[in-house]
Amino acid sequence: MNAMLRDIGRVPVIIGGGIAGLMTALRLAPRPVIVLAKAPLQTEASSAWAQGGIAAAVGPDDNPGLHFADTLAAGDGLCDAEVARGFTSAGPAAIETLLHYGVRFDRDAAGALLLGLEAAHARRRIVHATGDGTGKEIMRALTAAVRRTPSITVLEGVEVRRLMVADGTVSGVLAVSTSGAVLLPTSRVVLATGGIGGLFLHTTNPRGLFGQGLALAARAGAALADLEFVQFHPTALAAGGHPLALVSEAVRGEGAILIDETRARIMADVPGGDLAARDVVARAVWRHLTAGHRVFLDATAALGANFARHFPVIATACAAAGIDPATQPIPVRPAAHYHMGGIAVDRQGRSTLLGLWACGEVAGTGLHGANRLASNSLLEAVVGAGAVADSVAVTPPGRNEPQIFAGVPAAADPETVRPILSRAAGVVRERDALETSVAALLPLAGSDKPVADPALVALMISVAALRRRESRGGHFRSDFPLSDVATTERRTLTLATALQAAREIAR
Ligand SMILES: Cc1cc2nc3c(=O)[nH]c(=O)nc-3n(C[C@H](O)[C@H](O)[C@H](O)COP(=O)(O)OP(=O)(O)OC[C@H]3O[C@@H](n4cnc5c(N)ncnc54)[C@H](O)[C@@H]3O)c2cc1C
Repeated sequence: MNAMLRDIGRVPVIIGGGIAGLMTALRLAPRPVIVLAKAPLQTEASSAWAQGGIAAAVGPDDNPGLHFADTLAAGDGLCDAEVARGFTSAGPAAIETLLHYGVRFDRDAAGALLLGLEAAHARRRIVHATGDGTGKEIMRALTAAVRRTPSITVLEGVEVRRLMVADGTVSGVLAVSTSGAVLLPTSRVVLATGGIGGLFLHTTNPRGLFGQGLALAARAGAALADLEFVQFHPTALAAGGHPLALVSEAVRGEGAILIDETRARIMADVPGGDLAARDVVARAVWRHLTAGHRVFLDATAALGANFARHFPVIATACAAAGIDPATQPIPVRPAAHYHMGGIAVDRQGRSTLLGLWACGEVAGTGLHGANRLASNSLLEAVVGAGAVADSVAVTPPGRNEPQIFAGVPAAADPETVRPILSRAAGVVRERDALETSVAALLPLAGSDKPVADPALVALMISVAALRRRESRGGHFRSDFPLSDVATTERRTLTLATALQAAREIAR
């Protein structure tokens, strides 16, 4: 595969084969689309790893208004209220859509959907499948639906390295596979490339997800939003290699407790205890670790021999690391888990660059504000994909010709960036470390080396974290520990403004 593919008919190109990308493609059917995914479907996508489920107000005691209120409370004053209302209202229809595509959610003996409860939800509203294997089941069903839809062409093992722009609009996609480089002319591109966990040393995400979509969008000229808001999950399995397996909040929901090596409870004096908000628990675990302790999640009394029946995926991950959670406390640590920020998009998923849409974790819709409510991200992926598809469908193809590309950027490598970003923009942040990070990342981001794109994204996150001189949701500054509740606006950054700010900081 090389040079320019002129015969593809300028169909929309969807980059990413997780739930957001596949749902966009299905919703656009029978209109022809191309889906590009750098790894085979069902691999290297957070979607396939989602455990808890998808939040939707479908229970008899629930309604979208309650779901909306919980979402706003978690977002700590920074959600876009109208966006949050739209997503939460669309929850029940999203479940219907997934059922239509063949997803087999867990049901009770009478056939009603079983609903789980997660932290900060006022009602049981987490729709799940095979216990803690929800993402895998959704991806199974969507992949099968995509494979039997003739209008969808899926190209696996194809990595997008650049978006082409001509006259201020998207004109093509520059991608690379084992057969070489290819330029796909198109004026309609949907980015559905997932999160940024792979930019950190410790993450629950597939390591190959390190914000490539953000780099593609920023370099093409689109604005990014809310970049400083990264959610660190407090209980990743601190054993068994990278990425770290997730030990879901639901385990604490069943009564498991956080202890240290002396068996002292570490959340005993914290309001909310073991089920306090995710960022509160993450900071407590982090502080205990940095004080030289070890932290464990002890489910031996609460679940004991029932552990594997309740949490088969987690039990398997523990067994692989040589731990039996029925009889032994599970070693845990915080890990980068979810990015609330992303490509700034409007309610149709349109970015600030003509011809570029985004959905799923890579999109900054305004749904999550400073902190994501558990299980709202799969909802965002499904509902956001629908909005994007509807918008793409009514946008006629443009006639811009992409320029012939001079050279193809090397495959990105985030290795150098991980320790820099982890030190500066982890669970606890402060000015000196962030400024050091900016100074180290600026020359890397401007180079033509494999580190350039990951460094650029890490740089933009560091600049955004420096600019927010308060603590809010997933963003905690030890030098500004209080929330500035008067601040309610979302903050966007472009490549140009981030580089300018970085040069001033590094001077
Ligand atoms: C362990 C774990 C558990 C979770 N549990 C839950 C849960 O219970 N409920 C919930 O709501 N959320 C959960 N989340 C979050 C949720 O899974 C994700 O936010 C969501 O699945 C993201 O979907 P997506 O389609 O946007 O991206 P992904 O599913 O991550 O897919 C990204 C796709 O983009 C492709 N890609 C990336 N870069 C390129 C490129 N340059 N070129 C071509 N392709 C590219 C990847 O190969 C992949 O196909 C969990 C996340 C993790 C990691």
